[in-house]
Amino acid sequence: MSEKCTDFLIVGSGIAGLSFALKAATLGKVLIVTKSNEDESNTKYAQGGVAVVIDKADSFEDHIADTHIAGDGLCDPAVVEHVIKEGPDRIAELIAYGTSFDKEASGSYDLAKEGGHSAHRILHYKDITGYEIERALLERVHAHPNIEILTHYFAVDLITQHHVGIHVDKRSEDISCYGIYALNTATGRVEKFLSKVTLMATGGAGHVYSSTTNPTIATGDGIAMVYRAKGKVRNMEFIQFHPTALFNPAEYPAFLISEAVRGFGGILRRADGVSFMEEYDVRGSLAPRDVVARAIDLEMKKSGLDYVYLDITHRSKEDILEHFPNIYEQCMRIGVDMSSDFIPVSPAAHYLCGGIMVDGNGATSIQHLYACGECASTGLHGANRLASNSLLEAAVYAHRIFKHVENLFDSLSHRVGIPEWDDTDTSLSNEDILVTHNLRETQKLMSDYVGIVRSDFRLERALRRLGLLYDETESFYKNTRLSVKLCELRNVIQVAYLVVKSAMARKESRGLHYTTDYPDHAAKLQDTIY
Ligand code: FAD
Repeated sequence: MSEKCTDFLIVGSGIAGLSFALKAATLGKVLIVTKSNEDESNTKYAQGGVAVVIDKADSFEDHIADTHIAGDGLCDPAVVEHVIKEGPDRIAELIAYGTSFDKEASGSYDLAKEGGHSAHRILHYKDITGYEIERALLERVHAHPNIEILTHYFAVDLITQHHVGIHVDKRSEDISCYGIYALNTATGRVEKFLSKVTLMATGGAGHVYSSTTNPTIATGDGIAMVYRAKGKVRNMEFIQFHPTALFNPAEYPAFLISEAVRGFGGILRRADGVSFMEEYDVRGSLAPRDVVARAIDLEMKKSGLDYVYLDITHRSKEDILEHFPNIYEQCMRIGVDMSSDFIPVSPAAHYLCGGIMVDGNGATSIQHLYACGECASTGLHGANRLASNSLLEAAVYAHRIFKHVENLFDSLSHRVGIPEWDDTDTSLSNEDILVTHNLRETQKLMSDYVGIVRSDFRLERALRRLGLLYDETESFYKNTRLSVKLCELRNVIQVAYLVVKSAMARKESRGLHYTTDYPDHAAKLQDTIY
């Protein structure tokens, strides 16, 4: 059995993992394990861009206020202020790493505007900003002698005291992380990785739902691993449904029609061509995502159709091609020419606002374990993320974590005596179809009962069904040799359970969590922590 020791172990190779890797490599050896190809990540598919105050006409105060309004009272003010004020420095760093952002003829950055923003402040590279960031970061990482990337390694579980025979439970104050067990998908064997510092940078969990804009890697693995290791997770009820995914039942995941299209003048229309967002919000089609997604959900229920339309036909074809070449091409694939046709769109699970609870240094409730990016809950997004604040958050927190570990790195050491992964009494499965069926069932029940509009009755129904799927899957897991699909199913069920329990605990409607049983805000502001 192989054992690998490193100073810094990073799970995930999106913006969070790669940004931290480049910094940590100035202190010691860095090992990144990632479950797919090195660039496969939510980061790679980010379209709109990065929100940052760099225009003289804009201000930190306005970006802060917009973030709080979207977060519906639940953002942590200190975190919001810190992330937004540090934004320009971290973006300058991304540019120094080689990331390009579009400029106007004058030489200044071409700043876009998105829903919920009071100013033009979104730096972008055409409509493939995330692809460009991932490209630049990977190029830097490859050039660094202290960083190694292992692809197609699937992190299965954190290693803690539990693995050396010491009892830990949710009340334990001193749980420590010593590394991870990861499945080498080439050999089918689980290997041991020991580290002084471990970073969870595993991204989101869109695949808990049957319709999502996230690539297939987004199965909430890091959150499930931390919860299993008795770490704390927070505010899992806040799932952001992007209002405008391209409606195409033949495609999974759904292709995203960026918010930037609405920022560029896109108007949401009913099938009869009438614009409807003004009936729901004074900001019309540029209202924040939760408001727009709920309005579309209601319009779809009223019309009986599975979509509404997004209309950008009043902009010239030249302008559309200049700003949205990728979106144009993807629409053309299904015969929609967005310069002359309305685009059929519907909401899809897009972003997880909650996640692994971290403090202002990015530290989790488990010692020597940090979390960064979409899998982390920092307090920035509150009950609803403001568009394009997530890439920014990952860049800022990667730096925060680095600053924190820089001070304590010299005092850290590896834990010895960690046992090998035990897979005695397990056998290869010849029933993988059961895994696929249980995954589909979980995703469907989450979309049906725990979507944009919730109720106690629906949540209770979801919880009962999840209980059955959990029992079946755990028993399969105990007797079967590990596979990525089985581990992902387990994680999806675990995350779905956390979403449902958190939604049940929130007896109010706030931000992304809307329930017909408690349609108003509660008097007391509270996080949901498990
Ligand atoms: P990711 O980029 O998702 O990376 C996670 C990494 O972890 C991947 O490498 C994955 O393979 C790996 N991983 C996961 N589980 C395991 C495991 N068990 N073992 C090993 N490796 C694992 N945000 C914005 O700010 N602006 C935008 O314009 C924007 N547009 C978006 C458009 C789309 C279509 C999507 C899906 C998201 C968008 N977002 C946007 C959100 C943003 O892209 C993500 O929140 C952000 O990129 C997350 O970065 P991350 O590093 O945390 O995770």
